[in-house]
Amino acid sequence: MKARAFEYVRPQSVEEALRAFADADGDAAYIAGGQSLVPALALRLQAPALLIDITRIGDLSGLDVVEDRLRIGATTRHFEILGSELVAKHAPLLAMAAPFVAHPAIRNKGTFGGSLALADPASEFPAMALALDAQIEIASLEGDRHVPVADFFLGLYETALQPGEMIRAVHVPLAGAKTRCAFDELARRRGDYALVGAGVNAEIDDGRIGRVRIAFLSVGPMPMRAKGAEEVLAGNRLTCEIVREAQDALSVDLNPSGDEGTPAEMRMHLARVLLGRLLGRLETTP
Ligand SMILES: Cc1cc2nc3c(=O)[nH]c(=O)nc-3n(C[C@H](O)[C@H](O)[C@H](O)COP(=O)(O)OP(=O)(O)OC[C@H]3O[C@@H](n4cnc5c(N)ncnc54)[C@H](O)[C@@H]3O)c2cc1C
Repeated sequence: MKARAFEYVRPQSVEEALRAFADADGDAAYIAGGQSLVPALALRLQAPALLIDITRIGDLSGLDVVEDRLRIGATTRHFEILGSELVAKHAPLLAMAAPFVAHPAIRNKGTFGGSLALADPASEFPAMALALDAQIEIASLEGDRHVPVADFFLGLYETALQPGEMIRAVHVPLAGAKTRCAFDELARRRGDYALVGAGVNAEIDDGRIGRVRIAFLSVGPMPMRAKGAEEVLAGNRLTCEIVREAQDALSVDLNPSGDEGTPAEMRMHLARVLLGRLLGRLETTP
């Protein structure tokens, strides 16, 4: 199959891109790394009349510390997240997850904003944005708005983005001295989409857990927060009993579906195993 014929523009500013989308009466799509959109075009799952390439818009890319947040420009590519000292220092959970995103060739082109806009429930960065309590900076012709990540993912490949709106950047609260985090996933082969993945972002003081956020990928229609498990952990020490209680809470928090190779019960079992491993690593990871 081949993509439908389309027009192509490469604007130099966000405003120019937003205007191009509006002028196309909505029959348009932004293209960033193209790692998900191009296959969708080839399969005619999407067939916009106009592609608006946002990769040459200078101020959409890059990483900066702004006050108490790490600002990640939408077209910052996966490999830049992986290699960034700012990410390693201020958002170590993202640095831990980055090597698990696809393969080097895809990481060279795929973008952070593209990953969040696509909202694939099996993707690492959307779930870790949830674990990190990020804010999404969204640009539109009506002006910018900031959406907490908890209100951004609405369902399967569904986000709070309205037609024509563009992710400009993602803001992640800076890790503090007491922040401890851990990420891991289980996949059939390294680089494949995960059967189950999870990240934990916690504050630990003298062995006791304070604030904690846990998010899973591949166990529901969108990135899933494990609020019940968080409630079990908050204020407690990581004893075997507490870990087991947190694992038990996952049966309410998560809603995995099954397929022929991986029944739902197996995904739930893997999620429990993964959470146990991650909590076991928390004390020792920076
Ligand atoms: C073989 C293969 C394996 C992969 N494995 C993984 C994996 O293991 N984990 C993983 O997370 N991902 C994986 N991916 C997906 C990859 O990470 C994509 O790059 C990413 O999901 C989308 O980013 P992109 O920049 O390529 O977006 P594009 O493909 O350009 O766009 C995706 C969608 O987002 C929209 N969009 C893009 N940028 C914006 C923006 N700033 N504002 C609003 N809308 C926007 C587009 O219009 C489109 O609808 C894989 C891809 C392939 C081809």
